[in-house]
Amino acid sequence: MAEPDTVVTKTSLEALPKIAEGKVRDLYEVDSKTLLFVASDRISAYDVIMDNGVPSKGKLLTLLSAHWFKLLPTLIPDLRTHFLTLSLPSSIRESEHAKLQNRSMQVRRLKIFPIEAIVRGYITGSAWKEYQRSGTVHKMPIVAGLKESEAFPQGAIYTPSTKAEAGQNDENISIAEAAKIVGPKYAQKIEDLAIKLYTSARDYAAERGIIIADSKFEFGLDEESDEVVLVDEVLTPDSSRFWPADKYQIGREQMSYDKQYLRDWLTSEGLKGKQGVKMPEEVVNKTAEKYREAFEKLTGQKWVDAVKI
Ligand code: ATP
Ligand code: MG
Repeated sequence: MAEPDTVVTKTSLEALPKIAEGKVRDLYEVDSKTLLFVASDRISAYDVIMDNGVPSKGKLLTLLSAHWFKLLPTLIPDLRTHFLTLSLPSSIRESEHAKLQNRSMQVRRLKIFPIEAIVRGYITGSAWKEYQRSGTVHKMPIVAGLKESEAFPQGAIYTPSTKAEAGQNDENISIAEAAKIVGPKYAQKIEDLAIKLYTSARDYAAERGIIIADSKFEFGLDEESDEVVLVDEVLTPDSSRFWPADKYQIGREQMSYDKQYLRDWLTSEGLKGKQGVKMPEEVVNKTAEKYREAFEKLTGQKWVDAVKI
């Protein structure tokens, strides 16, 4: 069993070439059709990566994504995903297993559509700001009189954005602009799948005490079968806003599961958006605790049992 509390902020492998380094994940090439997706314990807030990591965060993201990758196709029959296995490729040496186990998954290597498929069920964050200003969300008119954190009366709305290069901000785009970027056929499929994914996950999570306020999905194209495939991480605290249902109250900002402690601390210390920040132990521990709590609620599994597998 891998040590649960080793903090991994950098990875390198002898056997496989690293092809990309995201804010959280490192991508290695297994072969021309397969990638090894390794989630580090890096954490970013306000687009800046902290100097130290959060213990087990990468494992939580990987195992939570795997949970959804197994569950979602049973709820959405036409869904295809990039998930292959949590097992490590045979080329990885035994001595490298401990640092990779549970934080890695093999996935199908696909051509990624350069849009982020964002679905919102509740009005919060930038959508709430826009609504207060202009009565619109993503430039679409929305019924008057909504309060902060209230559910959209239409259930879920699709608000795509561009997928910006590293260091740049994603930009909101209209559904028509999304269709221009990926082509109308794929754009429609992406929108339909994103809405189905969000609503299925929202209903599943609601039964487990978590409100999924919104979520971001990414898709890729399987060029051989011409299928649109769900990729990246899915329905984790990094890609979604999770709110504890028992603390939910309309008319105010919600406590969120993921980075609330970190964001509050950065703001109170005047460190918001600054580089080179090291989080104090208390912030690290509280954040780790919250990620773990979300994992346990959503999967129904104890964390100590999950990492043993
Ligand atoms: P960015 O997505 O801009 O790199 P990020 O910080 O979110 O930022 P990570 O989540 O750390 O990136 O890394 C995951 C990267 O791998 C993303 O760029 C994502 O688009 C890409 N990716 C996800 N699934 C696949 C796949 N099946 N094939 C190829 N690339 C993928
Ligand atoms: Mg990402």
